[in-house]
Amino acid sequence: MAYDPANIFAKILRGEIPAYKIHEDDHVLAFLDIMPRAAGHALVIPKAPARNLLDVAQGDLSAVMAVAQRIAQAQMKAFAAEGITVTQHNEKAGGQEVFHLHVHVIPRHVGVELRAPLSYKETPEVLAAQAEKLRAALRD
Ligand code: AMP
Repeated sequence: MAYDPANIFAKILRGEIPAYKIHEDDHVLAFLDIMPRAAGHALVIPKAPARNLLDVAQGDLSAVMAVAQRIAQAQMKAFAAEGITVTQHNEKAGGQEVFHLHVHVIPRHVGVELRAPLSYKETPEVLAAQAEKLRAALRD
């Protein structure tokens, strides 16, 4: 399957639509999911075009996972998380909705179930405050 540059994360990378950014370097961008399955739910993507795990370059995948680890560590602090769930979907049959590779990094607390995907839209004010908290935790 070919990469389609019209996908929404490509638009975020081109600066055509805003995002609640947490981390950015030459190869990777991390930002908050606007329909979080739990507070602090982050997405980590490569800057280079890749549809998903099946076509991503190994170097970009490594860079994405290294940032996912740092985000998880920051979430443990910033959200007093007790655990982290990492998910990643490939193609429609695998649950993928946005066709630019992304890794979900989700803070977890004992006894708190994840919301169903796409079931809740967080407010801009809350997302902005959570992004700032995570950026601060990454600086520590
Ligand atoms: P997936 O099913 O793995 O493709 O998940 C796509 C994710 O992208 C969902 O969790 C959506 O809530 C999220 N999403 C869609 N549009 C945006 C956006 N503009 N900014 C941040 N997250 C988004």
